[in-house]
Amino acid sequence: MINFNVPPYVDTAMDYIKECIANQKICGDGKYTKECNKWLEEKTKTRKALLTTSCTHATELAAILADIQPGDEVIMPAYTFVSTADAFVLRGATPVFVDIRPDTMNIDEKKIERAITEKTKAIVPVHYAGVACEMDTIMDIATRHNLIVIEDAAQGIMSTYKGKALGTIGNFGALSFHETKNYSMGEGGALLIRDEKDVEDAEIIREKGTNRSKFFRGQIDKYTWVNLGSSYLPSDMNAAYLYSQLEIADEINNQRLDNWNRYYKNLEELKDAGKIELPVIPEGCVHNAHMFYIKAADIEERSALIAFLKERGIMSVFHYIPLHTAPAGIKFGRFDGEDEYTTKESERLARLPMYYGLKPEEVDMICETIKEFYK
Ligand SMILES: *Cc1c(COP(=O)(O)O)cnc(C)c1O
Repeated sequence: MINFNVPPYVDTAMDYIKECIANQKICGDGKYTKECNKWLEEKTKTRKALLTTSCTHATELAAILADIQPGDEVIMPAYTFVSTADAFVLRGATPVFVDIRPDTMNIDEKKIERAITEKTKAIVPVHYAGVACEMDTIMDIATRHNLIVIEDAAQGIMSTYKGKALGTIGNFGALSFHETKNYSMGEGGALLIRDEKDVEDAEIIREKGTNRSKFFRGQIDKYTWVNLGSSYLPSDMNAAYLYSQLEIADEINNQRLDNWNRYYKNLEELKDAGKIELPVIPEGCVHNAHMFYIKAADIEERSALIAFLKERGIMSVFHYIPLHTAPAGIKFGRFDGEDEYTTKESERLARLPMYYGLKPEEVDMICETIKEFYK
């Protein structure tokens, strides 16, 4: 059987975790958390990176930093994971869902401006499959309307847009290290902070609203409760698990890209025959092979394909019921404009197995099975 996902694991993880336990250093902000933060700052060239307990929590942290208030509106794609919306609903804001582009499945930047009202406070682009949104246009809209940009870069580590790491272009970026992502710590994420002015507040909110980080740096002689906050720092054992992968980040990324390119090359004949569609990588975007998906003709064909693969031991999945059609999306949000592509395109998409350790022969076998289906 070929699983859809296998969580990434590197042998050094065991040594690093044992070291945490042996030294009795398992709480947050220990050696490995600092190493991960430093790695992220160097790799993404952002002002500050802070490891968090999840990408959902990094987005919540960003929503507090952005001072999102009840009644505010936040613009985001309708095709995304629930966390993108939840983080803002928790602050009493209304998610305003916008249609996606059929080529990248990202928010259609041309449909953002018409969704802006006097209540709009932020735009949340989601870089689907680690392929960048049209950030120049989005940043231009945000600047002209004085909006904060929070990038949901859950899938975007190692990807760039015109040379800039995803998550570093807007005011804030949220990364995920969930076990389904390219690098994992089981549950975890990171907040990327672009501007120096937001760093101290971020540290405070992440540490239950206290100025504990300053205390540990010796900048103050006692710490106290200074702001709204929560507990967004992960155990150092989780960070140790992640760090073992970050040390070989390029190797993991290259292997994923090799498999991605292999899928593409193998399936190109079906694309050329007009039977399926393959992912599109716009110019200026470097992606991280987070996902390989294909698009069938419609939902019936997709269901049949997923079932066909499953019978042959290959696990493929679809995801994201568009948020504006989900019960909570109806309750908390609204869709702006017309759902031209969101529902239609989401119903056609099937994700194929993609993980560190997937073998080239397995990719070939999966592609052969898909070709058999389309015969
Ligand atoms: C995985 C994912 C999240 C949530 O990440 P967690 O770390 O599990 O909280 C949010 N947004 C998108 C687009 C994701 O793919």
